[in-house]
Amino acid sequence: MLGYIGATSLRPRLVHPVLLAVLRPVSKFLAVLVGRGFRKWWQALPRHKKEVFRNHLRRNIVRYAVGCGLMGTAGFVYYNNHVTTAPYTGRRRFMAFNSQQQLSISNQLYQVVMEEYADHMLCKDHPMVDCVRRVGNRLLQANNTMPEMYTRVWTVSVVDNSLMNCFVLPTGDIVMFTGMMEVLDNDDQVAAVLAHEMSHTILEHVAEHLSQNYLLDLVILFPVALIWAVLPNDLLAALSHWLLNRVVELFLRLPYSRTLESEADHLGLRLAAKACYDVREFSAFWGKMAVLEKVKKMNGQETEVPFWLSTHPSNEDRQKEMDKQMPEAIDLRQFCKCPSLSLRDPREPIKRLQQSVTEQHNQTSLKGTPLKEGSTASSSS
Ligand SMILES: [Zn+2]
Repeated sequence: MLGYIGATSLRPRLVHPVLLAVLRPVSKFLAVLVGRGFRKWWQALPRHKKEVFRNHLRRNIVRYAVGCGLMGTAGFVYYNNHVTTAPYTGRRRFMAFNSQQQLSISNQLYQVVMEEYADHMLCKDHPMVDCVRRVGNRLLQANNTMPEMYTRVWTVSVVDNSLMNCFVLPTGDIVMFTGMMEVLDNDDQVAAVLAHEMSHTILEHVAEHLSQNYLLDLVILFPVALIWAVLPNDLLAALSHWLLNRVVELFLRLPYSRTLESEADHLGLRLAAKACYDVREFSAFWGKMAVLEKVKKMNGQETEVPFWLSTHPSNEDRQKEMDKQMPEAIDLRQFCKCPSLSLRDPREPIKRLQQSVTEQHNQTSLKGTPLKEGSTASSSS
């Protein structure tokens, strides 16, 4: 059952994640120092000594090649030994942390969150806390055959903050913000948010994300050192280093993050279907988020960010993906002998609203004037 997080409940702080957080920038800085140091040393070296160095390299090329090969093999073996299969989805992934280390990371995160929001927690009797606890308990009970559900002590807290956000720590501590609760129309939509966040926990996405960052940081150390060693001056090296970071971000880190989000959406839909929630509200929720976003952009309160620059899939994409997975989720509801869904499909009013906002957006673009105040998604519910 879901417990309540008290504002003063603190857990032992463990050192390991702190060490990791420090080692990451230090290792990058060292790679720059080593590469740049080599370039400066080489540029200052007299011509005859450069020739001695080149001859030494030519004579020992096989030894160096074997050394690099051995290091590469060791790296491959390490990587291979840490590839695991994600539960319920079967996706193969690199996981650098064991259960104990994951617990250490979780406790560290918990500590940071509690210290940040301690003064803004709603009391345990508040209707919003009650609602999150009620929905969370229903999701837990319906999915209590999953070991990841019954081996955790799940807790809930609601932070009085206008942020439209909710997250669950790997320990099972759910933190919801009042800003998010205010846009959720009913328990089914609260379930949409909670089930998605719980799925991140079940699938150990925090540990996986950290593992992936750790691996990428290790892999790019060599190209970083090479850039600073080979390019003729600091300006060129700094520009190339920046470019390398952007390429890694755009082509590896961000797509990976979006994959994890989509995976949590998929599993979340299944968790809610088993708990007999109206799964169509998942799609309606993302539709509403899309409308809210569009209205903010039209009013100039938010700038357009292309999906490939985002850590999350776009709201429209998530809505479409939910619609695609809907028949499977509705079948699962029937399989679990849930009561029939209401004839009123909650997706319909949202789709009509989306259409009207899009038409208004097109007219606004033609006239070049901002959207009038009051044209918000709240009119949909
Ligand atoms: Zn997420």
